[in-house]
Amino acid sequence: MAKIFCVANQKGGVGKTTTAVNLAAGLAQLGQRVLLVDLDPQGNATMGAGINKAELNTSIYEVLLGMSDVKEARKTSETGKFDVLPANRELAGAEVEMVELDNREKRLKDALSAVDAEYDFMLIDCPPALSMLTLNGLCAAHGVIIPMQCEYYALEGLSDLVNTIKKVHANLNPDLKIIGLLRVMFDPRMTLSQQVSAQLEEHFGDKVFKAIIPRNVRLAEAPSYGMPGVTFDPASKGAQAYIAFGAEMVERIKAL
Ligand code: ATP
Ligand code: MG
Repeated sequence: MAKIFCVANQKGGVGKTTTAVNLAAGLAQLGQRVLLVDLDPQGNATMGAGINKAELNTSIYEVLLGMSDVKEARKTSETGKFDVLPANRELAGAEVEMVELDNREKRLKDALSAVDAEYDFMLIDCPPALSMLTLNGLCAAHGVIIPMQCEYYALEGLSDLVNTIKKVHANLNPDLKIIGLLRVMFDPRMTLSQQVSAQLEEHFGDKVFKAIIPRNVRLAEAPSYGMPGVTFDPASKGAQAYIAFGAEMVERIKAL
């Protein structure tokens, strides 16, 4: 059975996609079979995995609306050695069109169950909103990975996300838990980063991952080559941190 995780934070630009793509590639390097699910109409995870979102015949949009299935729509990331259920801007329409459908929160869950035996991990890259798409991600998952920048405003949005996760846990998906908070784009020279990081550890304890992802330009450059940072420059500090995070995830799921 695959373990399914959402990478979610309703704040924009906090490193969700970078985390989803590099964790997928890091886990693949550790020998895990991975499906990366792009649940964002921006299609950044798709592009970052080296798949051209403008050339898709079928995508997650058709899968969610029942016009196709995961086996037909998935692609392989040659640069990352994992599979991808790709997305493009068509997906924005699904938000509205799903409202009419039965079981609308569980359409992704149902679609993914068809390929469950083929993967060890499925990673869902969520859009920056607590929308129907994100709700589908949360209903499909066993856990949530929350990437956070260690800055003052980072903590503000966190309670909305935590409350949403609690509601989904109570009403729709009793399996759902917060797996952990991942500190990303970390700059150890900034006192504020250190302070917020310490606050997170104090408040959330072992829910804060030990791995810390530094701010690293190689991670930001990699998507323009259609490559995960982990394969683009394996020796870079950012790549090394995501590999360490992959190993930590493999350990953590043993306890789930
Ligand atoms: P959105 O909410 O729009 O989906 P996101 O949360 O998925 O955004 P990313 O796209 O992963 O965030 O990252 C935002 C920007 O920050 C990107 O340009 C990305 O390349 C850059 N970035 C992410 N992580 C790092 C890092 N550790 N070091 C340097 N740049 C980073
Ligand atoms: Mg993103």
